[in-house]
Amino acid sequence: MTVNVAFYQCSSCWGCHQSLLNLHLGLLPVLPELNIKYWPAVLDYKFSDLEGYEDGSIDVGFIEGMLRTEHDVHGAKVMRKKCKLLIAYGTCACYGSVKGLANQWSREELLQRKFQEAESVEEPLNMVTDRDPELTEITESVVNLDKVVDIDAYLPGCPPKKENILGAVAFLIKKSPENMNKSSNVCATCKADPCLLEQGKLCFGNVTAAGCDLMCPNSGDPCVGCFGPTNNQDEGKAAKLRQMLEGLTASQEQANVISSFVILYNGLPVQGSLYLAADPLRKIALDAPMEYSDDISGAALKALAKSPNYTFMNGNVCSTCDRNANMTKTMTKIKRVHEGLPDTEECFLNQGYLCMGPVTQAGCGGICPTSNSVCSGCYGPVFGITDQGARAISTMASMADVDISEVEDKILDPVGLFYRYSLAVAEINKKVNDTK
Ligand code: SF4
Ligand code: SF4
Ligand code: SF4
Ligand code: SF4
Repeated sequence: MTVNVAFYQCSSCWGCHQSLLNLHLGLLPVLPELNIKYWPAVLDYKFSDLEGYEDGSIDVGFIEGMLRTEHDVHGAKVMRKKCKLLIAYGTCACYGSVKGLANQWSREELLQRKFQEAESVEEPLNMVTDRDPELTEITESVVNLDKVVDIDAYLPGCPPKKENILGAVAFLIKKSPENMNKSSNVCATCKADPCLLEQGKLCFGNVTAAGCDLMCPNSGDPCVGCFGPTNNQDEGKAAKLRQMLEGLTASQEQANVISSFVILYNGLPVQGSLYLAADPLRKIALDAPMEYSDDISGAALKALAKSPNYTFMNGNVCSTCDRNANMTKTMTKIKRVHEGLPDTEECFLNQGYLCMGPVTQAGCGGICPTSNSVCSGCYGPVFGITDQGARAISTMASMADVDISEVEDKILDPVGLFYRYSLAVAEINKKVNDTK
């Protein structure tokens, strides 16, 4: 069965859609699975086409860009009505990106600068009094998408790497393995003797569909539910497993098994970058309110929530950067990026170049440090950080042993440096962006 998809653009540079188009032949394996309902970047769709679809008739909608006009706001709301699952596609949609820096000024100041004062202006225009009334209104500030509509999943990156895009699309159209057999379970062909449950190990084979060739329990490793739910549980073993979970204070090893189970059994995205707003593991990590289902997933989540040994794993760019091994967490000078040629192996921060890797979510594979450029933070804040810029400042300040005059001389645009992609969602910006 094909998946109905729509791609919508709010105010943006179109780079994310360009990135999608740049997949070229890479799109071929997934295109037959997609029924494209709206994609004006490549075909002559009209907005009325989108408005004409029945509410909820589009399975997945991708929105690029942030909200800078009233039409953006309206378009985002129409997408929310038409799409079952809405994805914030790219850093503009997730965090406001570079355009969010405009929130340092009022709308009037921006219009005046652009249409009256900019060096390239030959015929100044007063865009407050002389604007074409047919034009959509500019919003007071850059509004982040999820302040106006509920977003189900986020795919950051400026633009997202093609592997992230393909990973996200593959996640959305994922198919069951051909050999999956929901009418049986893993226990039915398990040769573990004694059963791992009798050995005190949390094995989820009893609630998992059969068909797997690997059969981890045969090698002494618990089944973590890769094949998803079966319709035919081994009731006796499933009851024993639940009993174990209910009385458990999970060790780190057990917490790892349970979190793998929650991800694989429920088909949560495992690759870097795409993340679901409703991801239960994130909710546990944030101590956010959550309703636990009455099934095995709910029992597993409850066990995780009460385990002091469970840590939500979410890497930063440093965790995927080869220079990390050489990071000494000291910075005795500050350099601007054009000063000198950076060493290709030493951590940028140790060399004095201000790299946002420690506070930036992993997912790109450390593409910039690999090309000898500092990370500027485009994948947005690491999970749990609400203010990427403030965290960057405190991280770097804790490493730095430099004179304050050097800070003043070398950091000429602190907002542009530390908040380049996330000003619109930062705590500091909450006042102007709280519209929902
Ligand atoms: S996230 Fe980056 S590439 Fe995508 S639209 Fe925004 S500025 Fe352009
Ligand atoms: S619970 Fe695990 S170890 Fe026990 S029989 Fe089932 S698959 Fe095998
Ligand atoms: S700070 Fe930058 S250079 Fe250093 S390890 Fe992190 S990403 Fe790599
Ligand atoms: S290294 Fe940093 S700036 Fe470069 S792509 Fe990755 S997250 Fe973006």
